[in-house]
Amino acid sequence: MALKLVTGPANSGKAGEILHAFRARLDDDPILVVPRLEDVEHIRRELAEAGAVLGVRVVRFAGLLELIATRVDPELAAAPRATPLARELLVAWAVRHTSLRALGSSARGPGFARAASRFVAELGGAMVDPPRLRRALVAWAGDGPRRSYAEDLANVYDAYGGALARAGLVDDELFARRSLDALRREPRGFGASPVFVYGFDDFTSLELDALETLAHRVGAEVTVSLPFERGRLAFRATASAFALLSELAEEHVELSASSAHYALEARMALSLVERRLFGTATTTEPAGTAGASIAVASEVTAAGFATDGAILSGSVKTALGPGDAVRLHLAGGQRAEVELSGAEVLNALRTGVSPGEVAVVVRDPAGYASLLEEVYEAYGIPFSLERTVPLGHTALGHGLLSLLRCASGAGSADDLVAYLRTPGRLHSPHLADELEAELRRAGIESAGAARELWEERRWPLAEIDRLRAVGGGPRLLEELDGRLERLFTGPYTRRAHLLSSREAEDAAVLRTARAALADVAALASCGVGRPLEPDALAELLAGAPVRLGDPPSSERVRVAAPEAIRARRFAVVLVLGLQEGEFPRRPAPEPFLSDELRREVSVAGGLALPVREDELDRERLLFYACVSRAERRLVLSSRVTDEEGAPQAPSSFLDDVRELFPADALDTAAARRTLADLTWAPERAPTEREHERALAARGPRRGPSGPAGLSAATLLAELAARRDFSARELESFAGCGVRWLVEKLVRPTALEPDPEALVRGRYAHDVLRLTLERLRRRTGSARVTPATLAEAETILREALEEVGEEHRISPRAARLRAARSRLERDLLRHLRREAAAGGSFEPRHLELAFGLGAENDGEDEGLAPLELEPEGVRLRGRIDRVDTLGDRALVRDYKAGARVTGVAAWEADDDLQLSIYMLAVRELLGLDPAGGLYVSLAGKGPARGVVRDDEAEAVGALVSRSDVRDEGSVEAVLAAARARVGEVAARLRSGDVAPCPERCSPAGGCRYPSICREEQA
Ligand code: SF4
Repeated sequence: MALKLVTGPANSGKAGEILHAFRARLDDDPILVVPRLEDVEHIRRELAEAGAVLGVRVVRFAGLLELIATRVDPELAAAPRATPLARELLVAWAVRHTSLRALGSSARGPGFARAASRFVAELGGAMVDPPRLRRALVAWAGDGPRRSYAEDLANVYDAYGGALARAGLVDDELFARRSLDALRREPRGFGASPVFVYGFDDFTSLELDALETLAHRVGAEVTVSLPFERGRLAFRATASAFALLSELAEEHVELSASSAHYALEARMALSLVERRLFGTATTTEPAGTAGASIAVASEVTAAGFATDGAILSGSVKTALGPGDAVRLHLAGGQRAEVELSGAEVLNALRTGVSPGEVAVVVRDPAGYASLLEEVYEAYGIPFSLERTVPLGHTALGHGLLSLLRCASGAGSADDLVAYLRTPGRLHSPHLADELEAELRRAGIESAGAARELWEERRWPLAEIDRLRAVGGGPRLLEELDGRLERLFTGPYTRRAHLLSSREAEDAAVLRTARAALADVAALASCGVGRPLEPDALAELLAGAPVRLGDPPSSERVRVAAPEAIRARRFAVVLVLGLQEGEFPRRPAPEPFLSDELRREVSVAGGLALPVREDELDRERLLFYACVSRAERRLVLSSRVTDEEGAPQAPSSFLDDVRELFPADALDTAAARRTLADLTWAPERAPTEREHERALAARGPRRGPSGPAGLSAATLLAELAARRDFSARELESFAGCGVRWLVEKLVRPTALEPDPEALVRGRYAHDVLRLTLERLRRRTGSARVTPATLAEAETILREALEEVGEEHRISPRAARLRAARSRLERDLLRHLRREAAAGGSFEPRHLELAFGLGAENDGEDEGLAPLELEPEGVRLRGRIDRVDTLGDRALVRDYKAGARVTGVAAWEADDDLQLSIYMLAVRELLGLDPAGGLYVSLAGKGPARGVVRDDEAEAVGALVSRSDVRDEGSVEAVLAAARARVGEVAARLRSGDVAPCPERCSPAGGCRYPSICREEQA
């Protein structure tokens, strides 16, 4: 029998030719071979629709080889097979048990075994066995410096073969080689099944060997279709397969393009793209089909080509525009690109296209997955998106690995939180949030310390101990398997639950992880696996690939990689991510033998290995396949910028399409969406919700704003009855009611540690209090003078050390050290300035509390509150320092920041603090206020506030001249502050909470603009 080759461009009817021939041979047990699993399902459906239900055998190449083995060598067919993970483990074992001279250090790096595993698979697919590789590499390296590298590679491949044998496994490539050897020995065992091969655009050496053996040794009737058209650049990737197959073929049918399947209104434009894209190859044509009888059905000519009788010559392109059939999307960033595509898909669905007739093609589906899910779900688009992700990137996988790391002792606090967050692990998931908040606030980083904190508050996590107790070995695998099952079933315990498609992804994770554990256990029992230790296992499992996503169906838009859609047609095809480096994808360098070395090995050792520089040809073929799949509309999408606004290079393929149409025709009609387009134009909004957003965005800029007064009766009653207020609280309310509401009333628990500035301020206050108290004890006075400065500095350094542990400015040790030394520098500078300022006031009261009662953390309850009547207000607070001279008192308040304000700004800033303190020393200590000063601990300027002119000299040089006022002015300031306190307290009691956009500014550091919903001035 013979091999028949059917070639032609896209849409030339290759599928019809093959399927027709297949159906005609249904009585002879025919076999149809297709490249992918979903193609198997699709072709089965097509055949069933055409009435062929019984006797239909549609398989992939692996299935064909299984069938061959079953027919000619049943023992081989029953041989256990190495999974991809088992192969990786065996390669890792081979690497560990090979003495490597040149590759030694890189072999210890992460990812080496995975890369070596790919190389090994490639060698197998190219039918290279270990002795052949060794001969070729040795011939290439000679006795020169490459010898050790060549021997390392050959030794690893050898050792892998040994490991495979020791494990009693065969890998896919070895299985294929043995099946074909058996077939050559027993050609009659295969029977008379004709073999049809459809949908491939490339064949490995093994696959070509299988076709040749079937056609020439077995005498089976073999029909192979291949996308190929002579002299066309689009098919350069299939040229070598064409050359090899034409050598084997006794018959060659060349089909010509047909435009019959395009929708009428799109026919000219889509035909033009399919016919002219990548039209002329610049290299020599592949070998012809000498000796074969050729039935040429093509009407292709050098001048043009046939589309239903209409020849499109080169001049046609100047007249024919893309119309609605070919459209361009230009987007600023990936989100805008996905949103544009979503709008396009919705348009198509609304015009009656069924979801299964729409394909969205992306080069890397996993990279688009989360955005596509977010946008398409928001737009209500049903879609399927199959992708492969590492097990460690799934929720269940991440939880399991985190548990494993906690048990191994190498885990972090984040690992413990991640484990507790595994879906279903906690009935109240907020407990994990609370733990995370506490860990962050306390700066806890290790899993052990995090667990202690958890167990103090909640319950023991005995599973960590159990996992740790089993150590390594097979019991670790068993324990892990049991734990995995409990994590998976946790959310559904005692529920007859039907898994949603999202939840079904956990089932895929469970399957993958269990299969991986089974592989590890099986290899370990043969002594060729990986050491069964928690860390090694976690690393291995983290990278195990998990296939996720709903299978395609007619009810869902298909989101897929180009390879997955090339054997089907769709009404609408969108190709996203047309960027240079993305589509066409940049070839990934092969780490073991570069293209250049492969060529050298080929010349010196006669071993031909595939080279990667042909990848541009392959990308071109894939793009051609994508654009030729559309029957009604083709949409090409590119990002002009990334999410940060940096320009992005478009794919050169886009220019190839542009050239097919009149200048700027595609760009003029392009749909554009920029980074700045937060909403749609109302008339283009794809959904009702987007329409509402669009209208809202174009409405008045200041619509109804955030809180406009409290309304809850209970709260209002509580507030109305309040008498006690702190000075800071009133100041906060006067500054902004909304900010007060959040910070003083709601008081949400922060996820982060206290802000560094806050801790630094508390630390500085404590240190200064200790310093002055001790200075007073040692010298009789707390005043820092040139004579006592050295003593004060010594005390200050001691105090810094003493209370440092209570005030950890940062959880990070390095940052903590830096922050401490900066604070020390600031406080020492402050002491020196005090000493240089002179003055006669004596620090009398440090951290003087009033109205705090039992809340005061000092030894006593401090002073009574400052009562203001008739307002019925009782004020409380803590004054950093009160200096006295006779019956005069000077109030000081330390500020951690550099900015302090003088009295002139107090009214505008609603600054009440020092005024209240001055009133307090008058009412509670019976002293006459000489002034009040804000002292910056970080800045270099003078203290600011207000000082009576008759006390300015006694206060010393610390004060700014502009803050000196006469007695009457100081009294007026105090009276105004008192009146303001009454007003503010009354507003607070009435719940008059309102934002203060006219006063606040981003520089003020307010974190609640999303609550006040005010645009800041
Ligand atoms: S952003 Fe301004 S108006 Fe809004 S809560 Fe903060 S301080 Fe008030």
